[in-house]
Amino acid sequence: MAEEKRYDIVIVGAGPGGLCAGLYAARARRKVVCLEKYIPGGQIANTGEVEDYLGFELIQGAELGMKFRDHAVKFGLEIEMEEVEEVYVDGEDRVARCASGNVYRAKAVILATGGSPVYLNVPGEKEYNGRGVSYCAICDGAFFRDQIIAVVGGGDAAVEEGAFLTKFASKVIIIHRRDQLRAQKIIQQRAFENKKIEFLWDTVVEEIHGSEKQVTHLTVKNVKTGEKSELKCGAIFPFIGFYPNASYVREKLTVDDEGYILTNYKMETNIPGIFAVGDVRQQFVRQVTNAVGDGTVAAVAAEKYIEELEDKHANRVS
Ligand code: NAP
Repeated sequence: MAEEKRYDIVIVGAGPGGLCAGLYAARARRKVVCLEKYIPGGQIANTGEVEDYLGFELIQGAELGMKFRDHAVKFGLEIEMEEVEEVYVDGEDRVARCASGNVYRAKAVILATGGSPVYLNVPGEKEYNGRGVSYCAICDGAFFRDQIIAVVGGGDAAVEEGAFLTKFASKVIIIHRRDQLRAQKIIQQRAFENKKIEFLWDTVVEEIHGSEKQVTHLTVKNVKTGEKSELKCGAIFPFIGFYPNASYVREKLTVDDEGYILTNYKMETNIPGIFAVGDVRQQFVRQVTNAVGDGTVAAVAAEKYIEELEDKHANRVS
């Protein structure tokens, strides 16, 4: 049966930003819950290896996610498996309504819902999703052992995940719309040295084709010459960026042109008592390191916000 539960702070999303906010809020002895529809860790749960989180030279993404979760839970964070459908303001309460029917009321909400993959939006992408089209190398890479795998994009995700996929593929072809990568230099350098990675520059994917079972080839176009050709592959992994998951908030949040939530230096949105951290908010870089920093700031700011509300009530009573 659906329940109404009361907390001091509700965190939506158990990625690095949400879990770090949970750790700090729990250590401030606040009653805090983190609602997550999938598994703790956010995007890193689906990342092969992480080697740029300080203190961990090399760790599996899923393992780091579990460490984050265990650490926060040890200090008192509660985690509930819930899909949040709506966040809204009700007087002084900040409310999260879930698909289960459960309602979580709190004085402050921290939005830590990250982003979702951007689709190529080409014919065949939807049809072959799960049959050779995938957005998660760690989840699906092993299905394409000894096959040619195409990766689309030139950012950190495409190049890093492309390198990860060489563990399985006979060859990985990174298709990029320009002739220069956007990824960090160290990631680029390794990819250039990897004999199993080839690059197809100045090229976009126009269509994904396949058999009944699986992707078989792509139609690609050179954007400089306009020439079209066919590229044989058993799978395609588009990594062409993310869009923020913020549409579940009923209140009118101030966002940038791409929909990322704007916050002040305290991670507070334009709605008092609603904070945003990590990839869902406008950022200069999107890394685990700064998501964790955001979580720290938001938890402390939420705690101060609640204290001020409590002081206001105490003064009214006295
Ligand atoms: P990103 O940095 O935004 O890169 C997206 C790439 O896809 C760009 O190279 C872009 O090309 C290309 N692209 C965009 N739209 C396209 C389209 N319609 N067709 C073809 N290509 C298209 O995205 P990301 O790599 O997913 O990373 C997202 C964020 O997470 C970034 O801030 C990134 O730094 C971070 N991240 C960090 C790590 C790490 O530190 N290890 C790992 C993964 C992700 P152009 O270059 O021409 O714009």
